[in-house]
Amino acid sequence: MIQENIKYTQQAGVFKFNRLNCLRNEYFHNDCKECINICSHEAFEFIRNKLYINELKCTFCGSCLGVCPSEALSLCDFEPNEFIQNFSKKDEKLLSCNINIPCLNSFDIHHFIYLGVFKNSCDFDISSCKECEHNKNGKVLENIEKNISIAKEFLKELEKEPTFELKTDVKIKAKREIIKQFVNKVIDKDGENVKDNLKTHESKSTPLKLKLLKSALKTLLDVHEGIKIANPYNFYSNKSIVFEKCTNCAECIQFCPTGALSHSGDKLSIFFQIGKCINCNICSDICKPKAFEDINGFDILEFAYDKARVLIKHEIAVCTECKAPFSYKGGKKICDRCIDFTQNYDHFFKTAAELEG
Ligand code: SF4
Ligand code: SF4
Ligand code: SF4
Repeated sequence: MIQENIKYTQQAGVFKFNRLNCLRNEYFHNDCKECINICSHEAFEFIRNKLYINELKCTFCGSCLGVCPSEALSLCDFEPNEFIQNFSKKDEKLLSCNINIPCLNSFDIHHFIYLGVFKNSCDFDISSCKECEHNKNGKVLENIEKNISIAKEFLKELEKEPTFELKTDVKIKAKREIIKQFVNKVIDKDGENVKDNLKTHESKSTPLKLKLLKSALKTLLDVHEGIKIANPYNFYSNKSIVFEKCTNCAECIQFCPTGALSHSGDKLSIFFQIGKCINCNICSDICKPKAFEDINGFDILEFAYDKARVLIKHEIAVCTECKAPFSYKGGKKICDRCIDFTQNYDHFFKTAAELEG
């Protein structure tokens, strides 16, 4: 059991890739390419349809950490969630890859919103980004700017307007020195790395950054009870299921990586918890009748407290043709399989004379 867990974590220097958490590796129906698109060193590659990290190409810059929706990527001794929690309690206000972090893109919108809830002002050092070797295609800087701007917009809806400033004039320390801090710590703690690799894989878990964001939002809810977020921000996904289309096959529930979808005890209703959803779209992709529809906006209470909403409630009837139970939508009590059969294979039961006539 332990041996199996070890081989699923791949390590390149201080960079770790937990393949069990990668949506792409776990779910055939997912086409996530976030890490591949952001990496300037082409360090991610597919071998037999599975994602791997090329240990010779990875520079362990940490620029891909923030883009992974399921936190499959990490750096030893730099944990973005822990860092942001500690940083939000300090008087310091500058986040800089020249001073205290590997890369601003190790964080994402969740972290920037968290900072905005607890700090009135934050400075983000982007002075090295344009020339940075990890930003060759410009996507890293573009992503940092986009995430900070979305976080500001979101906070505004909660009537929070912290000063977030992008700084282009911070005195530059050698980037190598920052990375060295983490490398040295890792070498000092060799034993603990092995311990990390032995952590068992938790199926259906919510990423820590989502938990962090919800904990921050809860502190605001006394004042903003029941507030509705209207904009379609790209870090959440609100769902509905079209009643006429859903067959209650439960594939979406089975394949949802975070447990955001679940069945009621009697298996007739499907619940959705927006606070657990990572917007991976596996549910929509896997649903054969294409029953999922995205809806804009969400209730902040529902989000922060993981409240479950009923997406659909089925009525079960027994098919008059095959006698199997099925999700009844009204009209004749005949299941979809029997309707399909009579429509497409009706000719099997006709004589040659009937077919010719
Ligand atoms: S961003 Fe994360 S989930 Fe997506 S392919 Fe990369 S490692 Fe997998
Ligand atoms: S929404 Fe789609 S995948 Fe989910 S139970 Fe209904 S038909 Fe099946
Ligand atoms: S509900 Fe759908 S989009 Fe949300 S995490 Fe589950 S599978 Fe992904």
